[in-house]
Amino acid sequence: MKRVSLTPAVFHLSDKVNQVAATYGNQPIVPRGPALKPILDRLRKSIVEQLEVHDSHEAVVITSSGSGAIAAAVGSCIDDNGILVIANDVYGHRQADFCRQLGIRTVTYELDPGVRPDIEEIEKLVNKSQVKTIGMVHGCTSVGLLNPVSEVGKLCQKLGLRLIVDAIASVYVEEIDINAWSIDTLICSTNKGLHSNPDLAFCVIKKDYLEEMSGRSGRIPYLDLAKTWLAQQNGSHPYTINIRALLEFEAAFDDFMERGGLNGRIKMYKDRLAILRSGYEKLGLKTFLKEGMPQQNIGTALFLPDGVSYEELAENLANWNNGDDECYEIYSAQGELSGKVFRVFNMGEYTLETYERFVKALGITLEKLSS
Ligand SMILES: *Cc1c(COP(=O)(O)O)cnc(C)c1O
Repeated sequence: MKRVSLTPAVFHLSDKVNQVAATYGNQPIVPRGPALKPILDRLRKSIVEQLEVHDSHEAVVITSSGSGAIAAAVGSCIDDNGILVIANDVYGHRQADFCRQLGIRTVTYELDPGVRPDIEEIEKLVNKSQVKTIGMVHGCTSVGLLNPVSEVGKLCQKLGLRLIVDAIASVYVEEIDINAWSIDTLICSTNKGLHSNPDLAFCVIKKDYLEEMSGRSGRIPYLDLAKTWLAQQNGSHPYTINIRALLEFEAAFDDFMERGGLNGRIKMYKDRLAILRSGYEKLGLKTFLKEGMPQQNIGTALFLPDGVSYEELAENLANWNNGDDECYEIYSAQGELSGKVFRVFNMGEYTLETYERFVKALGITLEKLSS
């Protein structure tokens, strides 16, 4: 039975990526040896070239899942004036929580889940608090919506502020214009839009910011981005880096580029969404939407119909068995939306027919549960 993952964390990957783990053990690569440098150089260059920021920004790679890169970014980038974090989803709150736990002066602009932040309000909060950095999330995975990063970026440019953006759910799947949006630090991971394993994360950081950060120590010793950058410029890493995961990153990146790069990935997701979202509409499901907040490409947040609990819906789909040799894992909502909303993501290596079969399974399951 194939368990189709309709989650954003772990899902089936391409043969190219899976092949790495199958063969790596035959010839492991020593992390401090000469074989590391060409791999790291190539990857760091590919990252900034694909994002079209090779002149202005540098990539720093760490061994962690996405949240480790959030910790590394807030622990390394923010000066003593502190940060204003826009918290309108679970990950904005996570960013603010990480800052506070690190003893960083943290002002939060809290909104209900998915509500569009107001630029004038942000300006007021900045003027009042005198912070020199804004932190926010681009793709808000907990609500399925996109934050207006370009507008916040314009404000940052006007006020001379640094901008840190969690793009874990949007890099490689949404348009991001790092320079036009005045982004100083872009937080990314390899396991979402890139379709690799959750072992590596990276930050794409403006060069003058890295130089500024090199003059002080980061707040988390292991996740000090300036220190890591200095080592990676020479093709090295301060600690043991996961080289098997670097090779998987490379394989996933090559696969991404061969299949049309960002445009190819967006089209692949849009084709899936056309099946899924028209299916939801036919089933009478209501989508979680907020004014001025476009939907993410990676998935959709939907309200649970009256009388249907997330647990029974998820359990029925996980135990789905109608002879197709396929069952489905959906995702609960997080925080205050759990109990009201469920989420379906369209990431990973699956055929369009898989999504057609899922829509049918969802319809039959909902009918059974609400009767
Ligand atoms: C998934 C996600 C994270 C967390 O990444 P992990 O790999 O689970 O640590 C952070 N921010 C956003 C926007 C995400 O979608």
